[in-house]
Amino acid sequence: MSRIASVLLPMPLPEAFDYAEPEGMGLEVGDQVAAPLGPRLVRGVVTAIRDGAGGNRPLKAVEARLEEPPLPPNTLEFIDWAARYAVDMPGGPLAIALRGARAPKPRAVKRVQPTGQAPSRSTPARERVMQAAGEGHSPADLARAAGVSSGVVKGLIDDGALAVVAEAPEARFDPPDLSRPGPALNDSQAAAATALRRLVDGGDFQVGLLDGVTGSGKTEVYLEAVAHALARDPEAQVLVLLPEIALTQAAIARIGERFGAAPAEWHSDVAPPTRRRVWEAVQAGRCRIVVGARSALFLPFRKLALIVVDEEHDASYKQEEGFIYQARDLAVVRGKIEGAAVVLASATPSLESLRNAETGRYAWLRLSARHGAAQLPEIELVDLREHPPQVGRWLSPPLVAAVAETLGRGEQALLFLNRRGYAPLVLCKACGERMRSPDTDSWLVEHRYTGRLVCHLTGFSMPKPDKCPYCGAKESLIAIGPGVERVQEEVRALFPEARTAVFSSDTAYDAREARRMIEAMAAGEIDIMVATQAAAKGHDFPNLTLVGVVDADLSLRGGDLRAGERTFQLLAQAAGRAGRRERPGKAMLQTWAPEHPVLQALAAGDRDAFVAAEMAEREIAGLPPFGRLGAVILSSENPQALEAFSRDMAAAAPNADGVEVFGPADAPLALVRGRRRKRLLVRADRTVDLQAYLSTWRARVKPPGSVRVVIDVDPYSFL
Ligand code: ADP
Repeated sequence: MSRIASVLLPMPLPEAFDYAEPEGMGLEVGDQVAAPLGPRLVRGVVTAIRDGAGGNRPLKAVEARLEEPPLPPNTLEFIDWAARYAVDMPGGPLAIALRGARAPKPRAVKRVQPTGQAPSRSTPARERVMQAAGEGHSPADLARAAGVSSGVVKGLIDDGALAVVAEAPEARFDPPDLSRPGPALNDSQAAAATALRRLVDGGDFQVGLLDGVTGSGKTEVYLEAVAHALARDPEAQVLVLLPEIALTQAAIARIGERFGAAPAEWHSDVAPPTRRRVWEAVQAGRCRIVVGARSALFLPFRKLALIVVDEEHDASYKQEEGFIYQARDLAVVRGKIEGAAVVLASATPSLESLRNAETGRYAWLRLSARHGAAQLPEIELVDLREHPPQVGRWLSPPLVAAVAETLGRGEQALLFLNRRGYAPLVLCKACGERMRSPDTDSWLVEHRYTGRLVCHLTGFSMPKPDKCPYCGAKESLIAIGPGVERVQEEVRALFPEARTAVFSSDTAYDAREARRMIEAMAAGEIDIMVATQAAAKGHDFPNLTLVGVVDADLSLRGGDLRAGERTFQLLAQAAGRAGRRERPGKAMLQTWAPEHPVLQALAAGDRDAFVAAEMAEREIAGLPPFGRLGAVILSSENPQALEAFSRDMAAAAPNADGVEVFGPADAPLALVRGRRRKRLLVRADRTVDLQAYLSTWRARVKPPGSVRVVIDVDPYSFL
């Protein structure tokens, strides 16, 4: 009986395609295969096999089974689930899952080995080489080790006494040493660790919310759960997710210390051959701890027992381009599919997770004090109306005085401003024009260290012109407002002796550079760090006692649903970097609106009151976590086609109880990369199957070729 294989391809196709299985290929579900698609051969994964011939039309046959290992069944199920959850095609998550399998293999290296045959003649040089052989040296290294010329080694190879073998270096992931003790936990840490161990012991899907103030030892506590999960099952694997590459670096170092072996690392910055090795080691179960960014969720785990989502509130868990997903939510889904425990950790949990904890769906473990003598920092609001900075400056006199005192005590300060570059706006003082991105409705940001104007939305950049491109006036372009580079300039002028550094995605542009700067800060080699959010969260800098927030109002502007929540989280995290050891810390928040409830809650250290007020508002409006949101984003280069189709799309919205549709509304930035965008927003009660609603709606209308339709379940930002 011939068989038919359904093969899912990592591209935007609605479903798997059927292919005939060639006689004797013996395919199994999960196998990676090469299959013909039009004139090409493409990589795909077998998702089902059934008996039967191809019906009327003969099917094309699978070309070959690839040598790369198969995807485990749970990974396949997860891909399918993720696609349905996102109301998207399964090729998107499959492409993420195959990223490691498709990466080039590590290059083979040549090693010299003795063959067992004695050399035909012996010299002192040859003897030294034979003694040093057998340690897996390359030919050149062997010559060096024996202190001879390369000709001697070559002579022994020609003689048959030595042979060269070429092999890809086997990925070594040293097993974690589970006998190493963790630190002695304090009482509340010990109670939380016991609860997490119990969660793991359930051996089944369960979620715990580890909700502890900054510096309370959440990392130490969840590492106990990691140790326990690995110890109770010798094959178990653990995934620790972090929202940013900079944070993965710190976690890798800590896990390395705790278990005496470095975990595997997974994020977009990992070099392709390493990616391939990690992927294969995870698939084979040879690697037990993975630390990674959100895409690590799609790795082919063999036996995943525990997923930790650290800084679970962080908006970076939302992937906004390509396949759109919220990694925190998908971590819970993956946990369910794997029968694994999931730990969500944060000092400022998302309202979604808090709601699940309040209603008892998640176990709620609270750590309300910092470990040891460390106290939470005092938070002071600096009213800029009373204490304005000098013209053209951004730091108020009270903040400057506090930095001076901090430096005087030999301690460190961090100035937080969530704006990359030198100035967010450049305008011509002769004609008043603002420098704009060519095909996008956004201002160009001046980056003085590189001398360029950059669009942060699209990455477009150009050298800063010496005359205005609109009126031609010379040297008329002026920088408006501050970015981190400009704050550093001010700090240098104020404190010429201090060692300063800027930490942003421009200066810490890859994992290694981020790690270097974090280590330098932790080691006290920097006195004042000026940082965007890349350094303001998660890190543990022992000698940092002052955090200054340059513009506490920044993220409150712009009216999106989560502006208040996000500002609270970001500022609480930034403030939480201060005073993490014996010396008390302080955070100063510069603001023009100190009466704002978010800032008042921060100053009072009253998270619970803030959360209660925010929850009440969301409940009345039926917004997450009390209702669900979905966005349909339409974009086109053709404004008329977009206008017409957005009206058709709105008219086609199905009627359903508990669902409201708003829009179409223009995007705040009307033009991005030459495309105009509109959005329809769906609000649904929690009882509504939002995914089913959205896919029914989409199936009702067929967009013209010039209009793209993207669905965003649980939208965060819309620019
Ligand atoms: P969080 O993740 O909650 O911000 P961390 O786990 O980073 O907190 O802990 C803050 C600091 O306190 C770290 O340097 C950590 O090593 C230390 N610490 C926490 N708990 C303990 C403990 N029980 N014994 C010793 N040091 C601890």
